[in-house]
Amino acid sequence: MPVKKVPLIVGNWKMNKTPVEARLLAQAMVRDLADVDGVDVVICPPFTALPVVAEVIRNTNIMLGAQNMHYEKTGAYTGEVSPLFLKELGCAYVLLGHSERRQQFGETDEVVSRKLKAALDAGLAPIVCLGETLAERKKGDAFRRLKEQFRQSVVTVVKEFDTITIAYEPVWAIGTGLNAEPEQAAEAHQFLRGLADEEYGELWTHNLRILYGGSVTAANVDELLAQPQIDGVLVGGASLKSDFVRIVRFQTPA
Ligand code: PEP
Repeated sequence: MPVKKVPLIVGNWKMNKTPVEARLLAQAMVRDLADVDGVDVVICPPFTALPVVAEVIRNTNIMLGAQNMHYEKTGAYTGEVSPLFLKELGCAYVLLGHSERRQQFGETDEVVSRKLKAALDAGLAPIVCLGETLAERKKGDAFRRLKEQFRQSVVTVVKEFDTITIAYEPVWAIGTGLNAEPEQAAEAHQFLRGLADEEYGELWTHNLRILYGGSVTAANVDELLAQPQIDGVLVGGASLKSDFVRIVRFQTPA
């Protein structure tokens, strides 16, 4: 039975909230989560709201994350954002290889692996997103795809599993209202942990946290986090609502 780690709850605001709106949402979270302990909480606003959210959550129990970054530190990359900029703004975490970036912006495993290395070099904690599509699951290809993504975007690069987080996000569950069944998610998590252990040995991977993401809500978080293989959740839509407070305050059997 895997050892339970400090759960990590991450809110991905996607392309929502102007800086003014982001300030209000962050202030509400600071107020409603002030007494929460024993859980790591990260919010990932859009780039433009990072400075204002950083100011609101300074010296609180909420940490700052970004939703993406470039793999170079500086240069002629119009419209891109360097890991150094994120670090200076106070980001502790960065999401990498989210399926929306892979599907809509052509991010490949190779690009994700370069970003992973750059994030670690900049002192950011990367959260690498992996997950199969519905077609892959239906074909019985889900685990093959997870293995490929894990090997090509993670393994080639590093063994800093104290710092890296993996997020298992089945593409068919993201933004669809259709979450993976807890046992189904647990099976994928077990598989990913097995891959990491096989590649590096448990000594390296035992602090690795594997999150589940895909239509997590206040209504399903308890049963998802009751699975010993699930070390936290990555929340999209529900992170913009008061639901997020209930998600952070999830309840699992003692
Ligand atoms: C996500 O953005 O990573 C996500 C899981 O979205 P949602 O919770 O809305 O499915």
